[in-house]
Amino acid sequence: MYIDSHIHTGFSGDSDTAPELQIKQALALGMSGICFTDHDDHDVVSDVDFGLDIPRYLEKMRALKEEYADRLDIRIGIESGLQEKTVVYQDGTADKYAFDFIIGSIHFVDGLDPYYDEYYHHIGDRYYTAYYETMLSCIKAHDAFDSLGHLDYIVRYGKKYGLECSYKQYSDIIDTILKEIITRGKALECNTGGLARGLDEPNPCYDILKRYREMGGELLTLGSDAHTPDTLGVCFDQVGERLKDIGFRYYTIYRGRKPEMLPL
Ligand SMILES: [Zn+2]
Ligand SMILES: [Zn+2]
Repeated sequence: MYIDSHIHTGFSGDSDTAPELQIKQALALGMSGICFTDHDDHDVVSDVDFGLDIPRYLEKMRALKEEYADRLDIRIGIESGLQEKTVVYQDGTADKYAFDFIIGSIHFVDGLDPYYDEYYHHIGDRYYTAYYETMLSCIKAHDAFDSLGHLDYIVRYGKKYGLECSYKQYSDIIDTILKEIITRGKALECNTGGLARGLDEPNPCYDILKRYREMGGELLTLGSDAHTPDTLGVCFDQVGERLKDIGFRYYTIYRGRKPEMLPL
């Protein structure tokens, strides 16, 4: 099975899974490698602590990497929550610690997490527009990330307010975002986590993945966003077939923040 490059453990405030359990599951699924990417959202106000104790995280993950070296290629990354105000912090973190891979994700807009109703009440009809505008300004401001995480994941929450979001409706700003990451040599993530929670398509949806390919996008990382072992690598085979139909021949994994291409 494809290598999973988006995995959470108990080092993330919203998971209590021991990293050993994710490793065992990866071995059971026949993966040759994985990349841990626990949350590091700096300077946010939330009920959940999304900050990361990086020294403790690296110590544990490096010990596991060594312990399983003959069975599984373990890579150590983070999922960095991008905000315009956190550029200095994130640049410093990327310089200070030798991560294999950094996913840049937008989890907060105007300091609010779309997971909660407060975001909808505050933003209203600009629900998706505000999210994509924030994403664009964040990726322009930040350089300390390798792949743009779950580009349209906010559809997971917008649906409950009856708000639909297609590529067509937001194509101008989505194209601008895709162009920005292609020009800057960043990857796009194909995140299958939503498929375990009732969505029909990965994030971003196939229309956006197709558009990325048409625009010349090649770097594509694959992640399940598993917070528990049962969703590790979820729907990878099914999604891999669709990605090939769209025209991708390779997916990308990172070591030492450098891309490596593997066949789909
Ligand atoms: Zn995320
Ligand atoms: Zn995640």
